[in-house]
Amino acid sequence: MTLSIDTDLITIDKIRLFPEQSIDTDMLRLDKIHSQISGNKWFKLRYYLEMAVQTKKTGLVTLGGPWSNHLLAVAAAAKISGLQSIGIIRGEEPAHHSDTLRELGKLGMNLQFISRTAYKDRQLLLERLEQEYPGFLVVDEGGRGEPGIKGAADILQFVPALEQYTHILCAVGTGTMLSGLGLASLPHQQLIGISSLKGEEQTAPGILHKFPSLKGRIQVLNNFHFGGYGRHTPALLYFMNRFFEATHVPTDFVYTGKLCYAWMDLCANRYFAADSRILLIHSGGLQGNRSISPDKLVF
Ligand SMILES: *Cc1c(COP(=O)(O)O)cnc(C)c1O
Repeated sequence: MTLSIDTDLITIDKIRLFPEQSIDTDMLRLDKIHSQISGNKWFKLRYYLEMAVQTKKTGLVTLGGPWSNHLLAVAAAAKISGLQSIGIIRGEEPAHHSDTLRELGKLGMNLQFISRTAYKDRQLLLERLEQEYPGFLVVDEGGRGEPGIKGAADILQFVPALEQYTHILCAVGTGTMLSGLGLASLPHQQLIGISSLKGEEQTAPGILHKFPSLKGRIQVLNNFHFGGYGRHTPALLYFMNRFFEATHVPTDFVYTGKLCYAWMDLCANRYFAADSRILLIHSGGLQGNRSISPDKLVF
């Protein structure tokens, strides 16, 4: 049994934010493929699912926060693939479950809450899960690891005339998607990752250490985190609303809102040469917007 998702729904949209905008920009709309297995998560999970089926595992066990796009994608993808799923949730069980947690429960994911302290030592936690659930494939946070990178590399197969782009911009959490895009990109292309984490300066060096051939072509900007992972400011939400009004593209405040803001900022500061052609990756994640009050966003 394999996971089927409609990749025909992926489009490439022209992005024009200001009438005077001179830099040609397109956006790859991975957010359209599925509401639960959204954007890059489907690509990052594909080979894990294949592995689980091939090695005759009962299911997948993985970890994440209470609003995690990754957990939701795993729960839905496992269900579609006829596999079970276990989710290890960061933090004590809240009195009221978040929308995402409720959805995980409905998808049949077995939820287990652990303290933030126990969650912090991820290596130890992963080892414990390996021992405790031998019938399950352990998937690291966010789908990081070789199968995740390999899956993310497939993203660029959905870009016709890939060679026209000079720059590819994407949001960065673990850096798995950026690594995959880097591997699948062409030698004349620059990759710019926008980190949604504060003070995480090791992503780019880590990627370059693993893939030295990307030297000089890949960088991670660390100054667009808006306070840190999962944080937002009024300026970010204001931008996301204006971006939606101008382009009709909804973004999420954890990743793609920050990505688009960074793109706008770089354009405004003449970062790109006049003949640049930019490809923005919309990696999905819109469900996470449910964690902020509904009157803050116009979409
Ligand atoms: C998970 C996620 C990312 C981060 O991807 P990494 O491979 O962990 O860097 C980016 N955008 C969205 C919408 C996500 O859900």
